[in-house]
Amino acid sequence: LDPSRIRNFSIVAHIDHGKSTLADRLLEVTGTVTLREMKEQLLDDMDLERERGITIKSHAVSMRVDRDGEEYELNLIDTPGHVDFQYEVSRSLTCCEGALLLVDAFQGVEAQTVANAYKAIEHDLEIIPILNKIDLVHARPDEVKEEIETTLGLDATEAIGCSAKTGQNCAAVIDAIIDRVPPPKGNNDAPLQAMVFDSVYDEYRGAIIYLRLMNGMVRPGDRIKFLQAGTEHEVLEVGQLTPKRTQRDFLSTGQVGYMICNIKSLGNVHIGDTVTTARGKQAEPLPGYDEPKRMVFCGLYPSDGHDFENLREALGKLQVNDPSFVFEPETSDALGFGFRCGFLGLLHMEIVQQRLEQESDMDLVQTAPNVTYKIQTNDGVWNEVHTPTRVPDASDIKEFQQPVVRVNFVMPAEYIGGVMKLCSDRRGVFVRQEYLSPQRSMLVYDISLAEVVYDMHDRLKSITRGYGTMDYEMKGYEAGDLVRLDILVKGDRVDALSIICDKRDADPRGRAVIKKLKEEIPRHMFEVPLQAAIGTRIVARETISAMSKNVTAKCYGGDISRKKKLWAKQKEGKKRMKSIGNVDIPQKAFLAVLETG
Ligand code: GDP
Ligand code: MG
Repeated sequence: LDPSRIRNFSIVAHIDHGKSTLADRLLEVTGTVTLREMKEQLLDDMDLERERGITIKSHAVSMRVDRDGEEYELNLIDTPGHVDFQYEVSRSLTCCEGALLLVDAFQGVEAQTVANAYKAIEHDLEIIPILNKIDLVHARPDEVKEEIETTLGLDATEAIGCSAKTGQNCAAVIDAIIDRVPPPKGNNDAPLQAMVFDSVYDEYRGAIIYLRLMNGMVRPGDRIKFLQAGTEHEVLEVGQLTPKRTQRDFLSTGQVGYMICNIKSLGNVHIGDTVTTARGKQAEPLPGYDEPKRMVFCGLYPSDGHDFENLREALGKLQVNDPSFVFEPETSDALGFGFRCGFLGLLHMEIVQQRLEQESDMDLVQTAPNVTYKIQTNDGVWNEVHTPTRVPDASDIKEFQQPVVRVNFVMPAEYIGGVMKLCSDRRGVFVRQEYLSPQRSMLVYDISLAEVVYDMHDRLKSITRGYGTMDYEMKGYEAGDLVRLDILVKGDRVDALSIICDKRDADPRGRAVIKKLKEEIPRHMFEVPLQAAIGTRIVARETISAMSKNVTAKCYGGDISRKKKLWAKQKEGKKRMKSIGNVDIPQKAFLAVLETG
């Protein structure tokens, strides 16, 4: 296939603006999928994605279009919409020459519209603004065009209005892709040079590698080499997703498709690696991708210590399909043997946990999530700390650093004051404010990631009655005034309950946690004193009084937010308790440290 007939593009959008629906419509308009085959939102093929209406993994679908007697190949590379999976967005954009910037014609420009559009601009892509949902009576396409122009500096005069739901004007989107997205460059006669942008694991075929060919060709029987990994393999099969896996005789320059070699583990496939030929002249390595960064960590412990090996096996299985999730064994005085797990963000954490629960029948205790800190001890050595228990004594800390993110908030102008207050309460540093239109505003703050991951999104939604959106990207590590806050139950420090927080927040946090614990821990036959301490200084205390004979135990009271309920979700009919000393502590109590007071 002549590269001049190929168009590689992505759709970037804020969540819920209609990306999956538009993708379905394009597959239908091009006849890639017949109406009969059409299941709603074909691209979101993982159950969890469907359930939550989000796209996690990126996929690449090939469509053939005949226009004026000329055949074109359009490759749609799907990108996830959630901030946790931002690194996958960059990865997909590297394989494209153009992007559809899809904006809901009623909602207008939102935080992830801005973040994703900037990424597409950084990658030098041809950007085609699309206003979706013009079937809605309240659609305001002209104002939204203006928002696109003011915020992003893009020319929106030729923006296409369409409805992915009714199909109205979707054919014009296909024309725009052919006319405006540049064809890929490259040369079929040059040595093979292809970028690995994704991989999935298939039980029968092993690793299935998704590629974008920059130069050259690849066909079954070829010996190929991964330049970064240094490994060589024989190609067994190549093909494209249409959207089913469809074998091809070869893939050529500019094309996007899959390759199967006999590779038995995803651990041997590096996203961002360059594939070239193992024989003859080899290509230069392409600039690779950054490793996905694990931003959030938590401990996972089996309630029943005998399940430790089962848990290891279950985590290992999950990792085969999702190398961005990491885990390593750790021990806790309180919880025994378990694992410290690293995730891209909170949503990723929830997804992994949910899979774990669906796929295994274990009772798990999860500790409160925390971010990664950097600590320099007096001897000058820097360490990364993924768990509060690894924080050395305050007297041995020279510098304590925490990750800081730059957050964009987009909201109706009337909520600016509320969001500013939220940010300053969380010690955010104001960066700038912009008006997208007289009614809508964008605020930019630098805030510690720990503050953002705990409940910023929920707080924003409640302050703005659901109209505010946010997005963030890593800015770097900055020194903070941080301390480790310990919790003592009946005089013993419970390591799994320690947290790291700003020194100025330690007293109120301590009080809030103790108060919550008092609600969560059932009464015993004896008094249970609870204390919060920084080093030897006690900052808060409460006592759970002993059960009197005729009173049935006061159990798990207290109201907690929806999200915390989800984290603490108890399996029906099973009690998740951990006995520490001789005090029974329910799973929910281990999340009490999320209380911010
Ligand atoms: P995504 O998160 O960007 O993938 O968004 P979805 O494709 O899942 O769409 C989010 C919601 O918007 C769904 O309920 C869709 O049915 C709806 N939707 C998508 N496109 C249109 C449209 O053109 N008009 C209307 N009225 N609703 C739409
Ligand atoms: Mg979607």
